[in-house]
This record gives sequence, C-alpha cells and structure tokens, in this order.
Amino acid sequence: MDRCSFCGREKRDTNLLIAGISGHICDNCIEQAYDIVQEELKKSDDFDINSIQLVKPTEIKRFLDEYIIGQDEAKKYLSVAVYNHYKRLMHHHRKDEEVEIDKSNIILVGATGTGKTLMARTIARLLNVPFTIVDATVLTEAGYVGEDIESILTRLLQVADYNVEAAEKGIVFIDEIDKIARKSDNPSITRDVSGEGVQQGLLKLLEGSVINVPPQGGRKHPDQKMIPVDTKNILFICGGAFDGIEKKIGMRLNTKVVGYNASKNLDTVDRQNLLQYIAPQDLKSFGLIPEIIGRLPVLTYLEPLDRKALRRILTEPKNSIIRQYLKLFEMDGITLEFKDAALEYIVDKAVEFKLGARGLRSICEAIMMDAMFELPTDKEKTELIITKKYAIEKLEKQNIKRLKVA
Ligand code: ADP
Repeated sequence: MDRCSFCGREKRDTNLLIAGISGHICDNCIEQAYDIVQEELKKSDDFDINSIQLVKPTEIKRFLDEYIIGQDEAKKYLSVAVYNHYKRLMHHHRKDEEVEIDKSNIILVGATGTGKTLMARTIARLLNVPFTIVDATVLTEAGYVGEDIESILTRLLQVADYNVEAAEKGIVFIDEIDKIARKSDNPSITRDVSGEGVQQGLLKLLEGSVINVPPQGGRKHPDQKMIPVDTKNILFICGGAFDGIEKKIGMRLNTKVVGYNASKNLDTVDRQNLLQYIAPQDLKSFGLIPEIIGRLPVLTYLEPLDRKALRRILTEPKNSIIRQYLKLFEMDGITLEFKDAALEYIVDKAVEFKLGARGLRSICEAIMMDAMFELPTDKEKTELIITKKYAIEKLEKQNIKRLKVA
C-alpha cells in the first residue's frame, strides 16, 4: 500500500500522491512544504544589515537619475550623505575605532511636488532598508490630540516586521518639517500645539537616543509593552516647502553685501531662484530651533520644476506616469499611444494648476478615467490614441476645480 512518506496518509486519504525514487508525498504535505519554503525565503530576503553593500555616491546618483528628473544638486548631496551614513554603520561594527563619524541627517527644501519624497523613496529602494514616510503635521506634543513623536518609530518597526535591529538602521522621511516651525515670524502656520514642543521631541529622535516605542502606535496604554529603539543609526531625511523662505534668504543676502565684495556679490545673485543660496540661518529665521538645525547638517534644495522638466517627467523616468498607463492598457491587450500635442497639453494644465509634478498624475487620471472604465470590457478595441482633442474633451468633462485642490 502506497503511503505518504511524510505524514503517513494512505493513498485513498489523499487527493494526490506523488511517487519519488524511494518514497511518496501527498498534496497536503506539498502545500505545507511549499509554505515553509516561502516563509524561509522571505526571512532571508528580509532586511539583512550585514548584507548591505556599499554603493558609491556616483552609483547612487546614477540610480536616482533613472527615476528623478533634474535636481542634480539635491541628488549629489543625498548620495554623499547616504554613502557616509552606511560607511558610518560599517565603521561602527568595529569597536576599536577611535574616530566616531557623525550622523548626517538631511534636510531637503523645495516646493511641493518637486520630488523630495520621491528622492527619499528611491534611495530606500536602492538600499533595501526599512523605510517609512511620516507627516510632521500630525505630530503633537505628548498630551495633545494628534500623534506622539514615538509613532514615527512605530511605523518604522512595522515596516521592518518588528525586527528592531533592522529598524535601527532604517531611513525615516519626515515630510512637512516646515509645519512645525515656531509660529512667530511665520504667517502660514495656523495652529501651534506642535511648534517648539514638537521640535524638542523630534530633537531627541534626531540626536540619537533610546526611545520606548509603543508597538501598535496610538495612545500609550499602560499595559502595552514598549519596545526600546535606539535611533543613533537611523537616517532621518526631512523635507519641507518652507513657503516664503526666499524672502528670508533675500534679506540675508542683502545685509551681507554691506562690506567687502559687496557689489560683486549682489550682481551675481540669481534673484529668480534664491533657494539655491539657502543656509542654516534661513531655517532659523523661518522658525526651526537651532538644535534641530544642528542635527540636520546636510542642507540642500530642490529646483522648481519648469515646463521642460514636467514634460520630461511625464515620459522619461523608468516608471514614468505615461509608461505606467501603457503597461496598464497592455495588460488588457490594448495599445495605447499619446500624441505629443496631448502631452504638451497635460503639461500646460499642470503648470496652470501650480502643483508641480503632482498635478501631472491627477490630470492624467482625469483624462484616462473613461477609457480605463470602459475598455477592459470592449472586446473590439485593441488600440487607443490620446490626441490633444481627446485630452481636452475628457479633462473638461471633469470638474477641473476639484483637480486643483487634489
Ligand atoms: P514632494 O515630496 O516634493 O512634495 P513628491 O516627491 O511627492 O513631491 O512628488 C510627487 C510626484 O511627482 C512623484 O510621485 C513623482 O511622480 C513626481 N515627481 C516630482 N518631482 C519629480 C522629479 N524631479 N522627477 C520625476 N518625477 C517627479
């Protein structure tokens, strides 16, 4: 009588019994074994810190180039900072070293939709470390409505599958850091339960200390077991639009020109893009406390995206918006084509809405919605050409006002 060599079931008790050279296996055991294999493979695939390979700054930059248009300056700064960060991690393993390399947390300043988050996301993809994005606007001082600072680390723990060691070497992107600037001097802030208190809390994270993290996040339950997480080796990348900071930069540049070299300086200043001159003291004038600024030693900026950049963003990046649509339609057996004039029109609208590259997607979604809804059931259709006329028609059908605030 044939039996499964693993569980002993007789052939008649199985759906399928497969014979090998000197044994048998039933369908049930195959399934179980398959699950075990998957589980084990996943484990070894998980964040293994020791397997991090040191990628050189120029290689990091080249990788970023595949996904992000322009922003050369920010890419360069980020590449070096990340490279040094990981060198520092490796260095750290060797306890006998005398030189401690300082952490180089990063702050990216640039208008909304210029690629700050994309930059951080792309870096994390390259490095295969736990990565999370948090929005500074939801953070409040303990005791207020909103999320405690520790919730940042809860998220990191969650993406690291509660592997504390991995989380302790992860990357956290803190978006809208400008929104926790001190209220004074800053008319764009309407509430200030965050503000300085939140900055103080954040400081603890940035400078590296052991923080007790509630594993499920939310309010601290007295009976919730805390997980201590050391933030010493976590790389923090902060991003913010810092609306109006150009004015502070301009003012600083103007006062500096009193004295030697004055006239020469003033002449060479590119007034159209003051962000490129951003310096730590401008962040201070904007309302970040000096301690925070001190913990974000790498300061760089993102350029506003002009028409040309927006046009490139539509089609050039490896996973550009247009390529994504081509893929989506291809999966339904439909060849999609965008006419140049249609792409130009999409860019025009994005410029008009002033949402940077973020506008591109919502405009495309509006244009493609009908086709994405109808074509999958239309057996006849094998091709769709998006002309400018088609784009205008579809977009105007939508409530354009809604797109502007999207
Ligand atoms: P930010 O964080 O600066 O507000 P994001 O990085 O979230 O902006 O950008 C929003 C979207 O716009 C991204 O998902 C990406 O598709 C696109 N995008 C923005 N900037 C660029 C860029 N420089 N190159 C390519 N795509 C970009």
